[in-house]
Amino acid sequence: MLKTSQLIVFYTGILPICKDDAGIAAVMGHEVAHALANHGQQRMSAGMLQQLGQVGAAVAVGNQDPQTQQMVMQAYGIGSQVGVMLPFSRKHESEADMIGLTLMAIAGYNPENAVAVWERMSAQSGGQAPPEILSTHPSNQTRIDHLKSLLPQAKAEAAKFGVTFK
Ligand SMILES: [Zn+2]
Repeated sequence: MLKTSQLIVFYTGILPICKDDAGIAAVMGHEVAHALANHGQQRMSAGMLQQLGQVGAAVAVGNQDPQTQQMVMQAYGIGSQVGVMLPFSRKHESEADMIGLTLMAIAGYNPENAVAVWERMSAQSGGQAPPEILSTHPSNQTRIDHLKSLLPQAKAEAAKFGVTFK
């Protein structure tokens, strides 16, 4: 069960870096990917990838009010890990970046916005009182390069759902 308060904390801290809907979709996609891939339990459920379209819908309502979000999250069985910034291994981070990019693309947000978000995180990491996500999700050139390399794949996955970008 999703705790609404966790989402509010998550949004407040990360909003300036997210900047807009597409940025929120990027961060939500990443966090949903952790939940979806069961990273909290240190195991990957392969069948979960088939639900990408459904979760894409959940990511798409990321800018709705908390009650609506909660309703959608419950409908799709997304757990309480969403919005909680837990430290994950580098392997899990790579997976979450890949799946998250695909999720936001399927939801109709150009995945190139995810690269921009992580670039803003990188710029922010030297600043004062960084949001929690920065301490658990270090942004560096390697991560940004990796995300860029994943863009064609994410767009191709979205195209399977009829979503295309110019
Ligand atoms: Zn992560």
